[in-house]
Amino acid sequence: MNTWLAALTQLERAAKVAKVSKDVLARLRVPERIVDVQFPVRMDDGSARMFHGYRVQHSSLRGPYKGGIRFHPQVDMDEVRALALWMTIKCAVADIPFGGGKGGVTVDPKQLSGGELERLSRGFVRALGPNIGPRLDVPAPDVNTNPQMMAWMVDEWRRTRARGEIAASRTSRNDGKGEWRATFTGKPVGKGGSRGREQATGYGGIVVLQEALRLRGKRWGIGAAPSVIVQGFGNVGYWAAQVAYDAGMHVVGLSDSQGGMTQAEGFNPEMVLACKREHGSLAACAGADAQRVTNEQLLETPCDVLIPAALEGAIHAKNAKRIRAKVVLELANGPVTPEAEVILAQRGIPVIPDVLANAGGVATSYFEWVQNVRNEEWSEEDVLRKLARKLRMQTREVFARATGKRTLRVAAYALALKRVAGAQQ
Ligand code: GLU
Repeated sequence: MNTWLAALTQLERAAKVAKVSKDVLARLRVPERIVDVQFPVRMDDGSARMFHGYRVQHSSLRGPYKGGIRFHPQVDMDEVRALALWMTIKCAVADIPFGGGKGGVTVDPKQLSGGELERLSRGFVRALGPNIGPRLDVPAPDVNTNPQMMAWMVDEWRRTRARGEIAASRTSRNDGKGEWRATFTGKPVGKGGSRGREQATGYGGIVVLQEALRLRGKRWGIGAAPSVIVQGFGNVGYWAAQVAYDAGMHVVGLSDSQGGMTQAEGFNPEMVLACKREHGSLAACAGADAQRVTNEQLLETPCDVLIPAALEGAIHAKNAKRIRAKVVLELANGPVTPEAEVILAQRGIPVIPDVLANAGGVATSYFEWVQNVRNEEWSEEDVLRKLARKLRMQTREVFARATGKRTLRVAAYALALKRVAGAQQ
């Protein structure tokens, strides 16, 4: 099943049990607009290479389109469409005044130099042209994109598009600050980014997990110091592992795209990150007590909490019957396919869905947007406190709806659909 069909299936499953108006459902089944661009990038050898990029603007019912931009060879229209739909649902679950969008460029960024990545980032923004803006569509980082790239993108947007906006912005004379900075979130802290945004998705995931365990830990058979396995060691995976470790959980398994490692007494993620930075891959960091495993083996290793934090489709119809976790916390977008979810449900393994579990990232993007628009700077403590409060509240809302046979995903979608429908009137 491709990713778009997976997203639609999730929507339809929820619509079946939630009372949702036919009109709202009809609107969410299709994106409002798709921007499909091909643009040239000057390569280091002097040649110009064409790249294919997309921005899918799924729904603006609740506010400006919001969602990341990813650089990955697997990016295609169906993937970006699915990710955009998930953003609409996620922003509604997080209860922030944004709709849903997503962007992507089909590229293997590992093959590009720093200069090429900068020209790719800037070229994509020029190609998107007037289709993004602080009150229209606000991109952010996603897979293989980071604060530095957001800095290039916002700079390119300011250079090429923001003249009118800067003139119109009340804060324009204030050192060049102003609302135009809110066209992108996830920027570096010195360039209009929010403190706390970098760790927000991983941190938020662990806050959701802790609240979930407070509500259902006993029923799920999970004690005070759970063992966790994190698949994926990008920004989200690393921070989830680190925050889990700091909270006294045992991080018994880790992986990156090359492979993984397990260790019964647990890893210190900070030390693993330092080692990975030095040696380039995580596999090189398995000490004498650790066991090297493939990503497939990692997912099937027994633990309390399995955290897929890489790409969609990691847990699918074939491996779902071999998962030996007590609960799955989706920090990637769409890591459990709809077929796998049925199998997990039959086996009594609950899935805390992406649209709740990884909503900390976009919720903090909203805080960044507010700070930019109001020309404020909040402390990290303030940001993380606001975030934790928000996520605990929404976790309780979702769990309260997961009654009877309703999965947590259906409950989260039911909550989101109610909020989206509320915005339509
Ligand atoms: N890419 C992240 C996500 O999938 C964050 C999006 C944002 O901050 O706009 O939720």
